[in-house]
Amino acid sequence: MRITIHRGTNEIGGSCVEVEYNGTRLLLDAGTPLDDSPAALPADIDAYAGVLISHSHQDHYGLVERLPEDVPLYMGKVAWQFAQSLRLFTKTGDLLTHNPIPLEAGKTFRVGDISVTPYLADHSSPDAFGFLLEAGGRVVYYTGDFRAHGRKSKTFDYLCSRLPRKMDAILLEGTMMDRGNSAFASEREVEEGMVEAIRAESGIVCLNCSAQNIDRMVSAFRAAKRSGRILVVDIYTAWILRLAQQLSANIPDINWDGMRVLSHNRPAAGYYRNVKEHAEFFGGFLQDLYNSGNELWVQNLVDSPSKYLIKLSDYWLADILDRLPGISSTIIYSQWAGYLEEGTPQYNAKAASLKGRENSTFRLIHTSGHAVREDLMRLVGSVEPQTVIPLHTEHKNAYAEYFPNVHVLDDGEVFEL
Ligand SMILES: [Zn+2]
Repeated sequence: MRITIHRGTNEIGGSCVEVEYNGTRLLLDAGTPLDDSPAALPADIDAYAGVLISHSHQDHYGLVERLPEDVPLYMGKVAWQFAQSLRLFTKTGDLLTHNPIPLEAGKTFRVGDISVTPYLADHSSPDAFGFLLEAGGRVVYYTGDFRAHGRKSKTFDYLCSRLPRKMDAILLEGTMMDRGNSAFASEREVEEGMVEAIRAESGIVCLNCSAQNIDRMVSAFRAAKRSGRILVVDIYTAWILRLAQQLSANIPDINWDGMRVLSHNRPAAGYYRNVKEHAEFFGGFLQDLYNSGNELWVQNLVDSPSKYLIKLSDYWLADILDRLPGISSTIIYSQWAGYLEEGTPQYNAKAASLKGRENSTFRLIHTSGHAVREDLMRLVGSVEPQTVIPLHTEHKNAYAEYFPNVHVLDDGEVFEL
């Protein structure tokens, strides 16, 4: 077996890894770099037997739009629907015509001479997988992105107990090799932090987070409920939650008590256009929304700001707060703090502008989607791999301090097993 990390040995994101055996070539992830620097699929992508996408973050699937449609694509069904939804609502406004073969946890399949078993991962994006690859007597695990402190932390325990011992190599993501995990060590602590922040505010409470971070949406719903408030979302978020129902009936849905959808006035108009123009993609979603009785107007927020926890994009949160002058507010910022750092490639000026508003408290309540170093060590300690290969990290040379048998690769370098 031959492993080549085309991109990802020196950066967080842009993941693109090749595994080859006996002429069968697989590409694991096809991501765009997080700093938006130019990136391409391998030039001979037509020669690959398949492309496996671990989850619906763009630093893992962003290049799929350039993938020739006759190269087989494998991805979680809901993860693919999330990626398509993001295109419709916030990006290009069109759908990709690829037809991915859905991945299912524990269901082994063969691509040419390589056997693949997806393992469910605890990550900030749902329907996320790592891949166990077996060929020619060699066994390799590609972790994708994962953690052990989300709402699905049991999947991490499962991984530690079920992956084959003494496998030949593990390709180990190391986003957090040099980072602490903020003040909130787990998704449970995020929920507690939100409860505390909501209860301390008598005016309006706003939340800025990724709609596709389903663990976070569950935390927000639970925190709102425990604080006697109703969670308000936009139509995009309502749709994402509807898709996520396929994964678990415990994910809040637009029909639930304690949920409202901001479905009128300015924030909604653009969303309606997207839904109506792609009726076959959205099925009966709009009708369900009308039938739910959970529609809300902006005026409802203005009339009763203390009734709600309002989850909207940074743009619409700023707009709504501007319409409520003189009312006290708390803004819960629930994303990576790096987006707020001016002068970096990831800087988000609109999100940063939520900080320092008059009569407003800004609170950072977030936990990472990635495993802290102690949990990376737990996984390696359980699996006892013959070789640990760093990727999805800015600190590959630090691995040897914490793991045995580290083999550091550069982008494009071939590793023979
Ligand atoms: Zn990710």
